[in-house]
Amino acid sequence: MRIGIDLGGTKIEGIVLSDNGEIINKLRVETAGDYYPALLENLCAVIDALQASAEYRLSVGIGTPGALSTNGEMKNCNAIALNGQRLQEDVENRLGYEVRIENDANCFVLSEAHFGAAMAAKSVFGVIVGTGCGGGLVIDKKLVTGPNSISGEWGHNCMPANARALIDTDRQCYCGRTNCIETLLSGRGMSISYRDATGEDLTAIQIALKAHEGYAPALACIDIYANHLAHCLATIINMIDPEVIVLGGGLSNISALYRAVPSRLGSLVFTDTVKTRIAAPSFGDASGAIGAACLWDR
Ligand SMILES: [Zn+2]
Repeated sequence: MRIGIDLGGTKIEGIVLSDNGEIINKLRVETAGDYYPALLENLCAVIDALQASAEYRLSVGIGTPGALSTNGEMKNCNAIALNGQRLQEDVENRLGYEVRIENDANCFVLSEAHFGAAMAAKSVFGVIVGTGCGGGLVIDKKLVTGPNSISGEWGHNCMPANARALIDTDRQCYCGRTNCIETLLSGRGMSISYRDATGEDLTAIQIALKAHEGYAPALACIDIYANHLAHCLATIINMIDPEVIVLGGGLSNISALYRAVPSRLGSLVFTDTVKTRIAAPSFGDASGAIGAACLWDR
C-alpha cells in the first residue's frame, strides 16, 4: 500500500493505493491555492489522515502542478502559491519522513504505465493535450528523469515545419519561443486555429462537438489538429520508439484522434509498419493521485 496525493490549485486529493492498483481509501479537501502556509497544512493533514487508516507507515508520493527545480524550489506552478517554495523540504520537516514529489504530467504517465492503458508495455510515452502540453517517459515502470528535470516536455519543442505550413501565422509562446507545439496542440491552440479559419470563437470541446455533428469547418479543424499531432508524435517515435503513447488531458477525449492520428503515422515515422499504439487514458482525473503513489514501488 502507498499514499498518492494530487495537489491542485483548488483541491487536494489523497488516496491509499493497494499493491495491485486498487484505491482503498480516498480523501478530498478543497483548498485555497493562493496561501502557501494553509496549503501546506491542508496537504499534511490529508497525509496524516490517510496514514492513520493504516497499521504501518505508508510511502507518500505527491503530484504537483509545475516542477521541482534543481535548487529545491517549485517553479511553473499554476497554483501560484507554490512557486518559489521548498515544498518537499517543508512537507518532510512537518511529517518527519521522506516523501517523493513529481509533476502531474509525470504522475499521469506513471499511472497509465502501472495500472492503466499501458500496463502491459515496457516503454510508455504519455502526452498531455489540455490547457498545456506536458508529457513524460516511463521505461520498465520507472519514470525517466534527467539533470534538467524536463524529460518528456515535448510541448516546447517547435512544431515540425512541414506541419506548420498548415497554419498562416506564427504563434508566440509564453516561454519566449515561437511556434512551440503547445501553441498549436493545447486547447487554446485549437481554438486559435479555428478562429483563424472561420472567425468564430469556440472552445476545443465545442469544436469537437460540432465536428461530431458533421459540421465541415470543425471537421477540417480537427483534421489539421490530428495532422499536427501526428507530426509531433512521429518525432517522439523516431527518438524513443515507445510501445505505447497514451494521450491525456481534455483533448484526449476527442475520439476521432485515435483513428486520424495512427492513420497518418505510417507516412511520417521512419519505418515500414508503425507498431506503436496510440491509446486513450484509463483514469481521467484520478491519474494524478494514482501516479503519485507509483513514485514508490510499494
Ligand atoms: Zn513554448
